[in-house]
Amino acid sequence: MPSSLAGACGLHPRRAAVAACNRCRRGFCRECIVEHQGRMLCPACIELLAAEATHSRVGIWLWIRVLLQSGFAIFAFYMVFYVLDRHLARIPPQLPLP
Ligand SMILES: [Zn+2]
Ligand SMILES: [Zn+2]
Repeated sequence: MPSSLAGACGLHPRRAAVAACNRCRRGFCRECIVEHQGRMLCPACIELLAAEATHSRVGIWLWIRVLLQSGFAIFAFYMVFYVLDRHLARIPPQLPLP
């Protein structure tokens, strides 16, 4: 894998590289390299970053949902036992358990 700008474009072997991707450090031609949020990136890295961003967003929402659901589950669990406990406390002790 060439790492210097002296080589050819990573996607077009017949074109000379004019800039290196900030992420993968490979050289690319003027047509391939794209400025993305202040960084020079190749198309593959932009796709990768976009996929990562989408993935992390989904991950955060998944975590929020899991936290909310588990929080609600714990609350519901607690309430059920709280109510059960209060009901059981009123049942005379001589009654046989079901
Ligand atoms: Zn790259
Ligand atoms: Zn190219």
